[in-house]
Amino acid sequence: MEGETKVKKMSKKVKGAAIGIDLGTTYSCAAVWFDKKNRVEVIFNEQGNNITPSCVAFNDAELLVGEGAKNQIARNPTNTVFDVKRLIGCRFRDPQVQKDMESWPFKIVEGPAEKPTVVVELKGEEKIGQEVTDAVITVPAYFNNNQREATKEAGTLAGLNVMRLINEPTAAAIAYRLDHMADQIWHSDKNVLVFDLGGGFDVSLLKISKTGVIDVKAVGGETHLGGEDFDMTLVDYCIKEFEKKHKEDIRKNPRAMGRLKVACEKAKRDLSSATFAPIEIDCLHEGIDFFTKISRAKFEELNSSYFEKCIKLVEKCLFDGEIKKHVDEVVVVGGSTRIPKVQRLVEEFFDGKTLCKNMNGEEAVAYGAAILAARLSGNDDSSERDIVLLDVTPLSLGIAVEINGVSGNMSVVVPRNTSIPTIKKEKYYSQINKTSVSISVYQGESKKVKDNILLGRFNLYGLTPGFNGESDLEVCFNIDANGILQVSAEEISTGQTKSITIAKN
Ligand code: ADP
Ligand code: MG
Repeated sequence: MEGETKVKKMSKKVKGAAIGIDLGTTYSCAAVWFDKKNRVEVIFNEQGNNITPSCVAFNDAELLVGEGAKNQIARNPTNTVFDVKRLIGCRFRDPQVQKDMESWPFKIVEGPAEKPTVVVELKGEEKIGQEVTDAVITVPAYFNNNQREATKEAGTLAGLNVMRLINEPTAAAIAYRLDHMADQIWHSDKNVLVFDLGGGFDVSLLKISKTGVIDVKAVGGETHLGGEDFDMTLVDYCIKEFEKKHKEDIRKNPRAMGRLKVACEKAKRDLSSATFAPIEIDCLHEGIDFFTKISRAKFEELNSSYFEKCIKLVEKCLFDGEIKKHVDEVVVVGGSTRIPKVQRLVEEFFDGKTLCKNMNGEEAVAYGAAILAARLSGNDDSSERDIVLLDVTPLSLGIAVEINGVSGNMSVVVPRNTSIPTIKKEKYYSQINKTSVSISVYQGESKKVKDNILLGRFNLYGLTPGFNGESDLEVCFNIDANGILQVSAEEISTGQTKSITIAKN
């Protein structure tokens, strides 16, 4: 089977725990396999909570992480950093980064290699005590190559040995299988759709076998479609209300914006159980109190285009996976799936099907990652939990040749939803009588390279044009189990292998 990753009895037992980390946009969660107890346990944070806000803050005295950071956001808006998962692996000039910057109170500048860099004031001394641990880190299935590489690098910088990156819905599927293994008989393979709406949106269609083969058929999603966006529609609504009532624009007041965002997120959560939610903030701006009441119907109306987009992406994923609606189970995870309208739309799309919500939505992804971590490290080698993972690459990968500085169309080498790991080769004939060639590597679905993500460029020199003036090259794309790409090229006529590194700019 192409792309098969057998995850069993990999190595002898290693000392210490190997953990699974669900590094979320808004909340993160870590879990570990306990051999003695024969189960996964979530690692609680200092406050005793199972999930921790993905937030850090810097004040005069210290570095705050998680709840401590989130709780002081209104007092210290410019030095409190959140949502960085939306920046990871992106370029400063990406339109999406520029757009996000407008709503963030912290400052971003262009750093080395076009990387967006967060600027904070740190007067106190930084204290980080890190234990080195093996870890499996989860990423959205829809993360591109740059975002994956940056996540792996972040894990390494944090002192972790990153054994594997795993797609979040795939991790949720591992958890689902374990959860359901005992209480029901699997007569045949199950088609499972994982709908993960948290800070971003991810959808995966998987075929899960009784024996533990988790075969991802297709993935889809969008990193900028989730809870943060729903909060921002409420924030925008409130800004307009404030403007209408008081003729004042609060956009330039970071403290007011920070407080408003916190209040809007709370109102959004309240609206998952109540039909009305008040938003009350004393002295929001220039000493003016702000009060409004928002209905669930209004919230749904403000976000209807986002919700519809989720359903469109589900449709596309089913189409890509060549399954119409023959889905045995729809598993919903992620904090934003608590929104009743989202649940209703998904149910309706699947003709009234009951959704599988009984897994702990907050922990499922970390749980699955912990199982994989235990297996990869050899801490768990029970055959009962054997896993064979067959994941896919979310976006097509290809090359474009630059002629006189202008890139041509992208020619796809690895189509989206190809099983990974994989090696794909493509023959390419360079221009007549050219002894060098510049090739760009792109990721995306458009023929036009400008609409896709540029992963890097490489040049080949010293080519030997053949008798008809062409030199024949073979470009090889190698995607590892983490979904990370490596490219190499060979000049076929001479047998010369050019080993190439993708430059990041
Ligand atoms: P991620 O994994 O991307 O960090 P989570 O799955 O933890 O995201 O979900 C976080 C999002 O879910 C946040 O935007 C949060 O506001 C939202 N959320 C949590 N609980 C609720 C709720 N009861 N109703 C609506 N949204 C919720
Ligand atoms: Mg998540």
